[in-house]
Parts: sequence; structure tokens; C-alpha cells
Amino acid sequence: MRIFSGIQPTGRKHLGNYIGAIRQYVEGQDRGDPAIYCIVDLHAISVAYDPVELRERVYDTTAILIAAGLDPERCLLFRQSDVHEHTDLSWLLSSVTAIGELNRMHQFRDKSVSQRELVSAALLFYPVLQAADVLAYRAHEVPVGEDQREHLELMRDVARRFNARYGDDILVVPEHRIPEVGARIMDLQEPTNKMSTTGGTLEGTVLVLDDPAAIEKKIKRAVTDSGTDIVRSPDKPGVTNLIDILAVARGVAPEAVEQDMRSARGYGDLKAATAQAVVDMLTPVREGYGELRADEQRLDAILAEGAAKARAMARETLADVRAVMGFGPPPSA
Ligand code: ATP
Ligand code: MG
Repeated sequence: MRIFSGIQPTGRKHLGNYIGAIRQYVEGQDRGDPAIYCIVDLHAISVAYDPVELRERVYDTTAILIAAGLDPERCLLFRQSDVHEHTDLSWLLSSVTAIGELNRMHQFRDKSVSQRELVSAALLFYPVLQAADVLAYRAHEVPVGEDQREHLELMRDVARRFNARYGDDILVVPEHRIPEVGARIMDLQEPTNKMSTTGGTLEGTVLVLDDPAAIEKKIKRAVTDSGTDIVRSPDKPGVTNLIDILAVARGVAPEAVEQDMRSARGYGDLKAATAQAVVDMLTPVREGYGELRADEQRLDAILAEGAAKARAMARETLADVRAVMGFGPPPSA
């Protein structure tokens, strides 16, 4: 079972990333053979960005992932731009990707409207590069949050179309792995929008590296509704979000939280319990981060080693893809 997932080094990683993705990465290390995790810096340039900051954020994200429990001995951890096979393959795969499908992607639509200067072709092309990221490793499973479901479907179409045209079993059609609870953590101030690195509100986004006081403040100011019932419901997006967060942080089902909160005096109790549980969950990550982040040489060494292993795997796929697509000299029989 090969597992692959990517995470952007844009902005700072938040509670949604932690719950929807990073926790799954850590767990995947026990099942993945191998588990491959990639800091997707090439994806980050699809919106306005600062080159100096990008490099810093790659280190930040690497240190967060290791502090959260990724062990470079048990997984591959690398920087996307170090493995050129991703970009090579994305061009080849673009020939079996329908532009209409790209145009329909919600992420493209949502992110285009928030661009002030330029809606780049990279923003449209993003899912093709993402398909290449995964397909280059012939990964079987892709742990992601709910927002990536659509991109995963597109990626599966791309793989199927490729195999139909060039031969079965050249690419693996991957499955997504989306957590049952916490797949879509919402912005605390705008609970109808997902918590996000590049969109979202400052006050409504809990960062993995926030100190306990900041976490408490943000969660206690979370937007709820005017009722008092602590239950999940479509017309209570704020309360539902807090229940989901508390359930994940405590490692219990949302129903257990609802049950437990029956004796609560109001939303204040729910917020206090959620803040405490999130602080308990994130504190070890924040504490581990400082020392890891300070040693850039070590982070570079980890990323370089990961890239070397990743490249060796991606090269094999690329060689097969190029051969069937008619590039290079004819394959010797
Ligand atoms: P952006 O909004 O710029 O796309 P992001 O916050 O989505 O950034 P990514 O690096 O694109 O961050 O996503 C990394 C992983 O985190 C993906 O698997 C994504 O599905 C997951 N994820 C992102 N936001 C949430 C969220 N609010 N709840 C649960 N999972 C999330
Ligand atoms: Mg995203």
C-alpha cells in the first residue's frame, strides 16, 4: 500500500490542516509502504507569493510535520520542487486532462475570485500537477480533507483515461482517504467557509503554532448562533464545527460530545472545553517545533534524503510513461 499526500507551504498551517490531513499522515506511517509526504512548493506559486517567504515556509512546514509525529525514518518527506519528475509528468498528463473539467473545479472558481492582480494559468492547472504528484508514485491511497475530493476524482479520471489510451496498469488509480469527522473544519468567524491558509479570517483561524492564550481567545470568540442546544445541525454551523473539533481533539465520536454537553450551561462551556482540548492537542507540536525549526541544516538533510528516495521511485514511472507515449528511442525489447 503506497500512500501519498501533499501539503502547501503557504501561510501558516492551521487546525483544519492538522485535523484533516496531518493526523492522517502520522497514522499512515504505520500502513504505508512507503508513506510519501511532499511539501508542495510548486503549488504555492499559483497565487501571489513572496519567494523569500516561500523558502522559509518550507522549513516551517517541514518542522511542523516532524513535530506532529512524522518520522523521516518511517516515511519519505521531501520538497516537491526538488523532484523534477512532478513537473515533467504534469505536462504529459495535461494531454489527457479535459480543460472543461479544470474550469469547473470549485477551488479554481473560489480562488480566482480572491485574486487581486492575476488569475494565473497555474491556478487552473493546479489539479494536473496534483495528479502528477500522486500518479508519479503509483500511490494507492491519498489522505486529504474534504475540499480535495473533487481534485481526487479528476485525478482518477486522468489516470483512467491515460490507461485506456496507453495501456492498462501503467498508472494506478488512487483512492482518497477522507476522515469521517473533521474532514472540513470551518473558519471560527465564518463557519460556512472552510478554515484556510490563504482565504479565511485571521481571528477565525487557529494556527498549529498559536500559543494557548491565542487558541483560547479565538475559540471563545467563535461565532455560534443565538440558541443554547449543543447539537450538530445544518442550521448550526458554528456549534457543529466546535463539536467536531472537540470530538477529534478528545478522540471520541461527536455523539459522545453531544451527550457529555447535555449538562452544560450554554455555549460557553462548549467553547471552554474545546479550547482546552485543542491546547492539549497542539501544545506538544508547538513545543517540539522550536528546536526542529532552529536547525535548518538538519531540515535540509532530511528533505534531500527524502527527495533522493522519491526521485528514484518517480523516475521508474516516468520511464514507463515516456516509453508508451512515444518519447525517446524505442524501448529495447
Ligand atoms: P489553501 O486554502 O491555500 O488551499 P489549505 O489550508 O487548503 O490552503 P493545503 O496545503 O492546500 O492548505 O491543504 C493541505 C491539506 O489540508 C489537504 O489535504 C486539505 O484537504 C486539508 N485541509 C485544508 N483545509 C482544511 C480544513 N478546513 N479542514 C480539514 N482539512 C483541511
Ligand atoms: Mg488547499
